[in-house]
Amino acid sequence: MEIRSFNSTNRTLPVIGQGTWYNQDDDHDSAIDALRLGIDLGMTHIDTAEMYLDGDAEIWVGEAIAGRRDQVFLVSKVLPQNASLNGTVAACEGSLSRLGTDHLDCYLLHWRGRFPLAETVAAFERLQQQGKILAWGVSNFDVSDLRETVAVEDGSHPADDQVLYHLQERAIEHAVLPWCERHNMAVVAYSPFGHGNFPSPDTPGGRLLKTIGTKHNATPRQVALRFLLRRPSVFAIPKSTTPDHVRENAGAGDLILTEVEIARIDKAFPLGPPPKELPVL
Ligand code: NAP
Repeated sequence: MEIRSFNSTNRTLPVIGQGTWYNQDDDHDSAIDALRLGIDLGMTHIDTAEMYLDGDAEIWVGEAIAGRRDQVFLVSKVLPQNASLNGTVAACEGSLSRLGTDHLDCYLLHWRGRFPLAETVAAFERLQQQGKILAWGVSNFDVSDLRETVAVEDGSHPADDQVLYHLQERAIEHAVLPWCERHNMAVVAYSPFGHGNFPSPDTPGGRLLKTIGTKHNATPRQVALRFLLRRPSVFAIPKSTTPDHVRENAGAGDLILTEVEIARIDKAFPLGPPPKELPVL
């Protein structure tokens, strides 16, 4: 599994981590087994949120990492409606308790809401001073939001922006990704398989992924993940509760595509025009 620098933090992380936005059909035991398998295979960046399954996802993650907390880079998120100064601190404490840990490696604002950014950042700073979080970041932030975030007086630097990024939704490449790279922030690609809407093998794009994969003894999804990871600031966090899928996703961690292959994928899944607003799920 390739690891790379998580930009402004002093940490290196695997390029592929694990998401935990489970739905009601996902089974507790399968989710925990899958997370543990993923950790064994090097996918130690685990992304969760107080929102997922109304906090139950954090409980599941806590069970999966019990006894191996020091092996994972643990990320959770505060909901915007909780992101006041005191609300953020309380939300973080709730997440820590559900996760069964005394600290998060990174804590994110899930998306922008009604509370001033300065309040949320002040809470992140307080939590950092208390050792309850080691770093903080944002999610679903467009460039204007990012500019405001780094302008917050006395605020430390956000580690990352977690954003929607997959082959059929490349909007971040217009402005968010270059901005993050210029400002030493990591970019974490959420829903890297399109949240269940992966290109069908019957389409020209799907056929291309298969053709390229065959040359590398890789699957279309492994090729797709690697395309997203072609810039050194990007990490991806696919979610899976299926062991074969977990193995497949981890297997993309060492795949290397050629420049020609990357150019062919780029053409088959075009970037499209800049959006008026950053697309979110
Ligand atoms: P995703 O990872 O793009 O897709 C998940 C779907 O793909 C699941 O149905 C999963 O089913 C399937 N899958 C995974 N690996 C597969 C494989 N190798 N072969 C076939 N199917 C596979 O969707 P996502 O859950 O929306 O995004 C990933 C994570 O990003 C989330 O879980 C969450 O942690 C984070 N996220 C963050 C935000 C935000 O606002 N910050 C928004 C959305 C998501 P199985 O479980 O059966 O494998």
